[in-house]
Amino acid sequence: MVGRITHEFKDQLLARTDIVEVVGLRVPLKKAGPLFKACCPFHTEKTPSFVVTPARQTYHCFGCGAHGNAIDFLIELDRLSFPEAVEELAHRAGMPLPEAGDAPRGPDPKPLYALLEQAAGLYQQALREHPARDVAVGYLKRRGLTGDVVQGYGLGFAPPGWSFLLDALGKSAEQRERLVTAGLLSERDGRRYDRFRARIMFPIRDRRGRAVGFGGRVLDDGEPKYLNSPETPVFVKGRELYGLYESQQARRNPPRLLLVEGYMDVIALAQFGIDYAVAALGTAATAEQIKRLLRCAPELVFCFDGDKAGREAAWKALKTALPLATGQQPLRFLFLPEGEDPDTLVRKEGRDAFEARLADARILSAFLFEHLEARHDIATPEGRAGLADEVRGLLATMPAGSYREQLAAELARRTGAPSPRAGGSPGRPAPRSSVAPVPSLSPLRRAIALLLDDPSRAALVVDRPADWRELDNPGVRLLAEMLDIASAYPGITSAGLAERWRGTDDERTVRRLADARLVALIPDTGRGEELVAIVDRLNKDVAAQRRAAEIQRRWRERAATRDDGNH
Ligand SMILES: [Zn+2]
Repeated sequence: MVGRITHEFKDQLLARTDIVEVVGLRVPLKKAGPLFKACCPFHTEKTPSFVVTPARQTYHCFGCGAHGNAIDFLIELDRLSFPEAVEELAHRAGMPLPEAGDAPRGPDPKPLYALLEQAAGLYQQALREHPARDVAVGYLKRRGLTGDVVQGYGLGFAPPGWSFLLDALGKSAEQRERLVTAGLLSERDGRRYDRFRARIMFPIRDRRGRAVGFGGRVLDDGEPKYLNSPETPVFVKGRELYGLYESQQARRNPPRLLLVEGYMDVIALAQFGIDYAVAALGTAATAEQIKRLLRCAPELVFCFDGDKAGREAAWKALKTALPLATGQQPLRFLFLPEGEDPDTLVRKEGRDAFEARLADARILSAFLFEHLEARHDIATPEGRAGLADEVRGLLATMPAGSYREQLAAELARRTGAPSPRAGGSPGRPAPRSSVAPVPSLSPLRRAIALLLDDPSRAALVVDRPADWRELDNPGVRLLAEMLDIASAYPGITSAGLAERWRGTDDERTVRRLADARLVALIPDTGRGEELVAIVDRLNKDVAAQRRAAEIQRRWRERAATRDDGNH
């Protein structure tokens, strides 16, 4: 488990990361003096207004206003979460991530990863060479899988018998202990033996491509048909998705992701060129998994059997997805004809027909009302009331915004109730493709922007009077904190300074003020002077306030003395 990401860790991480490299991998950068330029990856343009500044370790788009540091870039472009972006950069920089808890808990997971990778290799090798491989090869051939797909997904074969892995990898007591921890050996009555026997093996990879567990499909009549690795320190079922890593390797920008039930479905679809299917691991998809999928593709389709169990599973998925539904990314539900699964259907109809089904799949709102109207007779007031109550309960779990308002309006339309007022919560901000206006700034905010533009400017004002810190203004606290950090960490980059506010109440303010366009009108050479001038002005304001307070105090004193005199 990854521990808390401290400021110190982020400082080091950003210091060891070169944003030119990070951005350069995705965007063709052209050197232009001390900067690098490119066409902006966040909005459509013909002339480059996207700039990467090595000295600041930031990127800025003077067109759409996109800006940030290396972490932001991965979050925005690769749709990673903050911890994932940090993990990615740390991995690249060769920095171990902080462990959860103050002291490292549990054993180092690295040997587990290594062991799981070795196991995956041995299973693959067994599929090619083991004397008992015929039954496995025969099965895969019957399923019509080509060598390419088998290799792409790293399928393997766990031979029959109790000690294939145990013999190969369990040389020492320590190794055998690890094999148990990794979920590769089972233990009963003090005896240890291979968990997976006589099965086709599907390695489950995390987003970095490391094998973290396995699914195994039985080759004889044994039970269970599918057996998964247990949860281990490196394998949490509600988090990983089978096939996600492979699909991301296949293409960077899939048109959508398709969530199916089984490993074989994922593989069969890939065989037919539908390389964007993934499967949850033997359980219903969790919110965490859905969130992850939404970061990886613009659309998500849930695929279910058309029978009653399939409908119930779909309803459960809908309820899990609602708190994440903003309407920005379509969520669809595909119900297969009875008796079919993706594997059988894609074989029967081929890719085009199957993709036509995907394009036609029910959009979330349609499925929601269809499902509930099957339970409530909206021809009667009682039915309409029941429907309204249920829908309102579901809407309450959704994020506020225009999508929720639209669903509420749709409910009103269907039940004939007066439409709710659309006031209150405004819709989501305009999509990134539009060009954001440059706000004008108060002097205080301009000072913060100047400091974010180049933290070394802190040195220009740090020795000047600090009376301004008494001013009663929310920006003052922010500027003061920022100056303190910038002076305490000389050499901190723009990237590192702004990073300090991630996850705080001021994050949005800081992010807005880090927009390079705010200071673009002030010539480079005049920016330090401008900061000094603002601080001096603020000091004068304080002096004036003090004088005014002093005059008031004296005036009150005088009034009080006069009152005393009258008594
Ligand atoms: Zn842009």
